[in-house]
Amino acid sequence: MERVSVSKNNLAIDRIEERCIHCGMCLKTCQENNNLKNDCINCGQCLLTCPTGALIPKYCYKTVLNYLHDTSYQVVVITSPAVRVAIGDAFGYEAGSFLEGKMVSALKALGFAKVFDTTFGADLTVMEEAKELVNRLETQKNLPMFTSCCPSWVNYVSKFYPEKKENISTCKSPIGMIGAMVKSYYAELYEINPNQIILVALTPCVSKKEEIYHNPDVDFCLTTSELVLMLKEMNIDFNTLKDEEFDKLLGKGSGAGLIFGASGGVTEAVLRTAYYLINHEKAPRKFYELNAVRGEKNFKETIIDLKKYQIKVGVINKLATIKEVKDKLDAYDFIEVMTCPGGCVGGAGQGLVAINKLPEIREKRIKALYQDDEINKVKESYENEEIKEAYQTFINKGKVKLHNEKEKIACQN
Ligand code: SF4
Ligand code: SF4
Ligand code: SF4
Repeated sequence: MERVSVSKNNLAIDRIEERCIHCGMCLKTCQENNNLKNDCINCGQCLLTCPTGALIPKYCYKTVLNYLHDTSYQVVVITSPAVRVAIGDAFGYEAGSFLEGKMVSALKALGFAKVFDTTFGADLTVMEEAKELVNRLETQKNLPMFTSCCPSWVNYVSKFYPEKKENISTCKSPIGMIGAMVKSYYAELYEINPNQIILVALTPCVSKKEEIYHNPDVDFCLTTSELVLMLKEMNIDFNTLKDEEFDKLLGKGSGAGLIFGASGGVTEAVLRTAYYLINHEKAPRKFYELNAVRGEKNFKETIIDLKKYQIKVGVINKLATIKEVKDKLDAYDFIEVMTCPGGCVGGAGQGLVAINKLPEIREKRIKALYQDDEINKVKESYENEEIKEAYQTFINKGKVKLHNEKEKIACQN
């Protein structure tokens, strides 16, 4: 059967030829998810349905382990929201178990010098993206604004939708944001030469492996499944680990930052802050449970009242949906696109689970993220104390770049 082609230069996935039974499942998945034939945008969804494990993330965990044993470097890790609700699958926990404390503890046991939370980076993306949205609404330029945090989507626009490049937000992705802060803010405060910091992004995503290739701030991208392999190889018993907390400075994320891991989460998070920026008051209650953009429908849409503007927002869940809605997108102001079904909770860097259980497992992971937002005292990125401090003492002094240069908006692959 015809199968997806995996080039040697693919930065996201690999194929172990001896395991391949030529069943064609990978191509079917690629067509269903992305409606692409022989073009790879690195999402890795084919990997999740390969029945023999022939398709794997492009591993880099052994190199990371080597750095962890090299005392001439300080190895720092940042962890994306969706990892903490999926890591337990490999250790016998109920799907969707929220295991943030154990995940932090596991990373410390592996020897990472600092464990920071990419949710802090998501909060920075929210702050900057909300400002950018308000600015575009004022000028009526480059609308709809497309989200920029999914590299496979950015890659898709670059290859198949170049006329809309300018619509993509110029904001760095959450790992791009926190990566820039680790190598500048953290390095300056702790008086560390940034060249001696090795920054590892732990993500649910294989596409981020390609994204960081273009970003000198982030040195390696590890997937959830690679973390599991590292723990097993180092004989660390995840189940008996005690909860630990993220390190301070870049270790706190708001509920808004955390829901980035679910489709619709970026939209909800950005709108909470955009409302505040426009009206100088907290958004009404419905911005905290925006059901119209939650869940796994392929295209979700709603009209949002920001008082000064009534805006039309759309959320594309699963990239193939773009072909169905492309013709009507000009009528919208804000469009979120996540390539993977369910958003990053369904990313291909998460461990393998039974194929027929995937939708149910994604749903449980999504629920866990929203539950944490619900109980989080800080639900707005602009209320995150670490974010406020970072702006006051560093970002507002122009010491770090949080936006992509125009020519870097689209990934070259
Ligand atoms: S799904 Fe896996 S086993 Fe089947 S053709 Fe693709 S790579 Fe080979
Ligand atoms: S990684 Fe994504 S785009 Fe590439 S072949 Fe697999 S499913 Fe298709
Ligand atoms: S939706 Fe998330 S996990 Fe999937 S490719 Fe995009 S960033 Fe990666």
